[in-house]
Amino acid sequence: MVRAIYPGTFDPITNGHLDIVERASRAVDDLVVGVVALSTKQTMFNLDERIKMFADAVTHLPNVSVQSYSGLTVNVARDIGASVIVRGLRITSDFEYESEMALMNRKMAEDVETVCLFSALEYQILSSSRVKEVAALGADVSDLVPSNVLNPLVERLEERQEK
Ligand code: ADP
Repeated sequence: MVRAIYPGTFDPITNGHLDIVERASRAVDDLVVGVVALSTKQTMFNLDERIKMFADAVTHLPNVSVQSYSGLTVNVARDIGASVIVRGLRITSDFEYESEMALMNRKMAEDVETVCLFSALEYQILSSSRVKEVAALGADVSDLVPSNVLNPLVERLEERQEK
């Protein structure tokens, strides 16, 4: 049985992340989405919110589960019996960072393999940060995030404007 972990901040999940999860879930037996508990990034949504939004978006995928994690990804992978780390690769932005991370992870854990899936053409320039940025300026992001993310995103932006 091949179990994989897809780690990230997911602040919030976008359709680019969802596409990676749908495709990866067809390639492995069991996929665990690991939502980073403590991110170096200042997040818009707290851990529980990020987990819930991701979990609500993948209810149609029976072999996908969502959980929090902290610490080194390779340690978490070993703890949960995952032999594969899944990452998504956008052509222009991710190669350098992802290859450095994959090499570092392999140095620490040769038994855990990083597998990168190329982002679909329509999601190449999509990121959580860009979604938050354009949504804050009033753009319609319904094509960019799963439908369950729209309300929480709008509400959070309104809360921020009220402050
Ligand atoms: P991190 O904080 O680890 O960068 P992210 O939530 O930004 O977390 O992304 C998690 C993973 O999803 C990374 O491998 C990232 O490259 C990938 N990813 C992000 N956006 C997209 C996208 N639009 N298409 C494909 N992969 C993506």
